[in-house]
Amino acid sequence: MVSSRERATPSGQRRDPASEVAELRRRIADYAERYYRFDSPIVSDAEYDGLLRRLSDLEHAHPELRSEDSPTRRVGAPPAPSFSPVEHRVRMLSLDNAFTREELISWAERMSRLAGRPASDVDLMCELKIDGLAMSLRYENGVFVQASTRGDGILGEDVTANVATMCGRAIPGRLSEHPDLALPSLLEVRGEIYMAKSSFEQLNERQAKSGERLFANPRNAAAGSVRQKDPAVTASRPLAFWPYQLGEVAGGPELTSHSEALRFLDGMGFVTNPESQLVHGIEAAVSYCLGWEERRDQLDYEVDGAAIKVDSFADQELLGATSHAPRWAIAYKFAPEERTTVLLDISVSIGRSGRATPFAVLDPVKVGGSTVHLATLHNEDQVRSKDLRVGDTVLVHKAGDVIPEVIGPVLELRPEGARPWRFPRTCPSCGEPLYRLPGESDTYCMNVNCPAQRVQRLTHFASRSAMDIEGLGEQRVADLVDAHILADPGDIYRLVDRQEELVSIAGLGPLSVANLLRAIDISKQRPLPRLVVGLGIRHVGGVAARALTRSFPSLDALMAASPGELESVGGIGATIAASISDFFASPTNRGVIAKLREAGVRDTEPEAVPARAASSEPGAPRGSVERGPGAGSAPAMLAGRSIVVTGTLESFTREEANQAILERGGKAPGSVSAKTYALVEGTDPGTGKVSKALALGVRVIDEEAFLELLETGHIGGRDSGERAGPATGGASRDSGERAGRESGDIVSGA
Ligand code: NAD
Repeated sequence: MVSSRERATPSGQRRDPASEVAELRRRIADYAERYYRFDSPIVSDAEYDGLLRRLSDLEHAHPELRSEDSPTRRVGAPPAPSFSPVEHRVRMLSLDNAFTREELISWAERMSRLAGRPASDVDLMCELKIDGLAMSLRYENGVFVQASTRGDGILGEDVTANVATMCGRAIPGRLSEHPDLALPSLLEVRGEIYMAKSSFEQLNERQAKSGERLFANPRNAAAGSVRQKDPAVTASRPLAFWPYQLGEVAGGPELTSHSEALRFLDGMGFVTNPESQLVHGIEAAVSYCLGWEERRDQLDYEVDGAAIKVDSFADQELLGATSHAPRWAIAYKFAPEERTTVLLDISVSIGRSGRATPFAVLDPVKVGGSTVHLATLHNEDQVRSKDLRVGDTVLVHKAGDVIPEVIGPVLELRPEGARPWRFPRTCPSCGEPLYRLPGESDTYCMNVNCPAQRVQRLTHFASRSAMDIEGLGEQRVADLVDAHILADPGDIYRLVDRQEELVSIAGLGPLSVANLLRAIDISKQRPLPRLVVGLGIRHVGGVAARALTRSFPSLDALMAASPGELESVGGIGATIAASISDFFASPTNRGVIAKLREAGVRDTEPEAVPARAASSEPGAPRGSVERGPGAGSAPAMLAGRSIVVTGTLESFTREEANQAILERGGKAPGSVSAKTYALVEGTDPGTGKVSKALALGVRVIDEEAFLELLETGHIGGRDSGERAGPATGGASRDSGERAGRESGDIVSGA
């Protein structure tokens, strides 16, 4: 599905600042959600930081547009619903950044003006900025009691059970008794959980041998080992910890400086980073930063900069903090790590809007903690301005980032006869001509029937962030498009009538077909925002889709909304509104929507329909599942049954799931017993609950089976998402397929 405006609007048009600010906030929120919550960014850190800087500049130039909830004033992201929230009584802030020596000096001048003495006369603690997961550890009367992530700085995620497995190896379980140091009754220690580079390599080797997914870099490996629900997994991972800050403290010795605090932590049994250095004056701090920028390769852990902190606690108090970061500290960000490799080829991928994106095929090279073999080249102008030629030795970087970038060729090493690259004239998928529109930097395949576009649109529709159709990954979609069985998302719901053809396609046996059809059927019930995401409207990601469907809780209402009405939704500016209107004006898109509706795909939010009683009668509309508060009355079909929920569900918060059970007369206790009717297993479940349920013979069902249970009062059996025993892995995902899809997204860039 394509929006005509998507191509016709020249880039760089004049923007109304209010609408640009609103859109920037919405985009940044979408990217932050992908980054912090799902650990799968879709833009580079540099692009994200650029958007944030643009927003900050606009807010600076237009103070009337400032807002307390702007991402420029926030830290990280709220805790994921699968973890209990922990309040940080002393907020866990971020750090402001300096990218150059000059920015460091100007921070020091600002800071010393406020502190009332010259920047050359301030004691500064210089530390390495470790690239891991920020952690708060609480000790009561010397005993470890709680660990939590930073979250949004006010509320973090409770990861106590996981971090407890690090006690005695990476962190003390009990603080040391020290003859000269009184033990605080409460001590909160902040620092970074990280994984050493060497441990990361070994872990990935082990993962590869056992066929498990590989981690992108040590930071993701550390975060992924802690932000999951099974302490046994954390225990099996080679994690380490560098403490670098005190949080809440009660009792203990009177400390007057940060350097004293670090020594105190050493005395309490922690191991502080040996490279930290107390210096006098900003020039010495600058030397520390520049020195480590050169030498960081010597470290066996990833660092992305240095943190410079005013040492005196009295000065720290005087300087205070903004809502985002303390004024008494600054992070000097190292320039991204760079490597050279050979550019083997330049290919072009076609995205779902038809955008043709050139990408580099590289001789695999290790950079920024992972192996890179493909890198987007964005568009024709970028390839031309960098003058990249096949055969060139090129510089590649990756700023603690997952998206690699080709910086440029090393001209002295250019092979003789290497020729400038020319953008292909025709689409590598359908062979139709490629067009570059006047005033735009992007090139498009205009053929809406192009198989590559189809594959990308359909893959996006079925993806986890949209309709989440298990088993419909990029490769399978491509097979079905090749076989002329799928052309648009509406066709997915007609596959049920093409079972024989499905069976005859390579790789699809009768069981796979049955599973696929079942997953497709289940997807009809996805909440409306997911359908809106799946339609692939340009600029509309999960956050925008949720905002839109709160105001327009049915597809009809959304389609009927004028651009002005759309713009009245917080965060929807003129560009997004125009993109939505154009999308729904297209007869092709309307045709696809009609097919989806005909198939029974849910097109309203529950709040939008009068409370319908859930029915178990055959043929009753599946859209009648009521969920969450305000869903209206539902028959007491779960009367007397006890249903326990564990892990994260896609379409419910934990409270909504429990509420839906209670509304149907059921009970929703927090633990499993022999009386439990079923255990609903979301992602990252508590293994204790799952193994107990399996041992007691309690049914373990997935979210789809839970939806069915709420709707009909029944569980359909094994095929309907019930887990029979530990080995069956009812909630298993084809992770290879998903990983492939994600890397495809990055390369296609459309
Ligand atoms: P940050 O990582 O730049 O700096 C603050 C953090 O540094 C602290 O919270 C702490 O965890 C850590 N740290 C390490 N060593 C430290 C030390 N010695 N002293 C104090 N702190 C230390 O800031 P952030 O807010 O955590 O994250 C912002 C980063 O995330 C940016 O680089 C941004 O580009 C990236 N990001 C990217 C995307 C994307 O889509 N690509 C989205 C969101 C955020």
